[in-house]
Amino acid sequence: SCEQFPTGPIETTSCDFETVESVSEDLYNNLQDLVRTPFFKYYRADLYRECPFWQENAMCSNKQCGITTVDESEVPEGWRAAALSKVEKPSQDDLHYLPGCYYRDADFCFLDDMSEGEYVDLTLNPERFTGYSGPSATRIWSSIYKENCFRPPAELSLSQEEQCLEERVYYKIISGLHASISTHICFENFDQNTGTWGPNLECFIARIASHPERLENIYFNAILLLRAVARIGPYLSAYDYCGVKTGEHEGDADALTLEKLNNVIAIAQDVGRFDEKLLFQGENALNLKEEFKQHFRNVSRIMDCVGCDKCRLWGKLQTSGVGTALKILFELDPDTLDPRLNHNLLSRSEVVALINTLNRFTESLVAVNGFRKMWADEDQGS
Ligand code: FAD
Repeated sequence: SCEQFPTGPIETTSCDFETVESVSEDLYNNLQDLVRTPFFKYYRADLYRECPFWQENAMCSNKQCGITTVDESEVPEGWRAAALSKVEKPSQDDLHYLPGCYYRDADFCFLDDMSEGEYVDLTLNPERFTGYSGPSATRIWSSIYKENCFRPPAELSLSQEEQCLEERVYYKIISGLHASISTHICFENFDQNTGTWGPNLECFIARIASHPERLENIYFNAILLLRAVARIGPYLSAYDYCGVKTGEHEGDADALTLEKLNNVIAIAQDVGRFDEKLLFQGENALNLKEEFKQHFRNVSRIMDCVGCDKCRLWGKLQTSGVGTALKILFELDPDTLDPRLNHNLLSRSEVVALINTLNRFTESLVAVNGFRKMWADEDQGS
């Protein structure tokens, strides 16, 4: 129940729930401002690629499933596809292409081809209840959980305690992402009877609060993302957030972006206590890491099968955000993180995805607090 809110250490991190709680409002306030700045609100994604795994024809026809795209002319010049493909062109050596997308050896996700896709203003397309459900949604989630299998079939009966650390971490990431999406659905829920939007406590209890480990996994993801932001902090502080000057307020917008971002980085350095050095050790480390990457890349491709445009947009963005965090933690050598030496460690799309994903998890933490208050109020009223 909501009363049994988790306390104490969070498994596989050196952080506890109370510490995360103590910074969540501050983090939320800074991130809410940050994701509304021009750099972070425009995201480019190819939302209409074919599902590579099965024939998907279950398209959600609810109005809420739709998204509004923006014309490229509204996006500052420096962030348009043509401009970015000049400065961000990945080296051809380690590129692996599939139709419409590619990945480099260091990536945990498939990235959309620059020449495809549309711009979306994320602030105009919030992730919330859309009504997408049924066999299509169930199939996606179960395919994603199946990617959590790192063992030969003979060992599949191992209990959770017997799973290796990497496998447990993988499951926590997926389950936490699922729980965070469910929290948004329940917090911004549509009541079909009254035709109004608002938080739905029963939905939250059924999907999250009655499974405490799901709630814990939201916290786990928040810490993982915070650790990645802390690690890449100096690089993010030196990143070029300036499109091309389009108006007199542009300079102010850049200053605001940097101020808020530096606040987020400071919080991340304080509480992002996930020790990435514990993973991928031992004799089989390289194989295990390669397998982990392949599985997560598959999850990023499964997102093309989601039969609801808005859900697909946020599914793609958040897998890319978590994938970027994993790349920062497990692939980037600390010596390469100097932005003066390496400008192109992360693409614009990866930076936007990372920060917006952290924002979504932080919104979930704040929503959980909202549900706790609702629960306490109902308890007092009865
Ligand atoms: P589901 O959430 O579909 O879960 C299926 C099964 O997975 C459950 O029965 C349970 O056994 C297990 N499970 C559930 N949660 C967890 C967890 N955290 N950890 C481990 N196991 C778990 N709907 C919207 O309204 N808005 C959206 O923005 C949206 N985005 C989506 C994005 C993606 C990528 C996907 C695949 C679906 C999205 N959906 C969205 C649909 C939504 O996630 C649910 O599938 C839908 O609401 C039906 O919910 P359900 O109660 O049947 O269970």
